[in-house]
Amino acid sequence: MTTSTATPTDTFADADAADTVDDRPVRTTAEVPRLGTVLGVWAHPDDEVYLSGGLLAAAAAAGQRVVVVTATRGERGTDDPATWPPARLARVRSREIVSSLAVLGGDRIEHRFLGDEQGVCHLDGYLAPEPAAGTLDELTAILDEVAPDTVLTFGPDGMTGHSDHRAVSAWTDLALAAARRRPRLLHATVTAGWVRDFGSLVTAMDDGKDVFAPSPASSLAVDLVLSGDAVALKLAALRAQASQTAATEQAVGAELYRAVVAGEWFRPAPGPDGAS
Ligand SMILES: [Zn+2]
Repeated sequence: MTTSTATPTDTFADADAADTVDDRPVRTTAEVPRLGTVLGVWAHPDDEVYLSGGLLAAAAAAGQRVVVVTATRGERGTDDPATWPPARLARVRSREIVSSLAVLGGDRIEHRFLGDEQGVCHLDGYLAPEPAAGTLDELTAILDEVAPDTVLTFGPDGMTGHSDHRAVSAWTDLALAAARRRPRLLHATVTAGWVRDFGSLVTAMDDGKDVFAPSPASSLAVDLVLSGDAVALKLAALRAQASQTAATEQAVGAELYRAVVAGEWFRPAPGPDGAS
């Protein structure tokens, strides 16, 4: 790692990420440039903002390339499908994620839905661990084109246990094995403190479906707890996905909601031998 001599006027220039990437833990938003070019691979609109909104905003502000890929339009993300039939919710969530990413990074965060270029939307709730050949090719091509230094996605447990989350974790592994370059792969996680303080709350709101396995602090590659303007920006981006977030914030209250979403944690994916 070389010490940056960047001046304010070239902060947003195309930095050579390879000069700044290192694998020391990221514990403040100012340290996010260590991650270099960032590619997030997620299952549903809102996964990216809940798990990495502050990280994405900091990376974009530092002039890093930031790309977010979403596998589905999240059209089944409702308890009220009569009011929100899938086609309607797909349209709404497709717009919401664009607005949310604009809150985080203006026009500097790139986004795409997997399958769009083939005209095949992946169906929310139906992602299979074995991707179709076209899906794997598409994700591999994105990895080759973006050439990320860091890839963010779910771990094999899907963070909440959701089958779509587990599927995109598996898809990312397969695509990375086929890609030309091997970036750092980081899996979203939570801490024991978060599970202690909020785990039962989140689980209760989700009919007990969510399961959160905490990671020890010493294992974390990203250990961010947002505050001040950073958490305010993340809250604004979450509110831009109101179809998924408004009822939750209303149910728990703004102050608790802020505390629940302030943390963003990632651990290195285990290596082929199971070591981190
Ligand atoms: Zn999700």
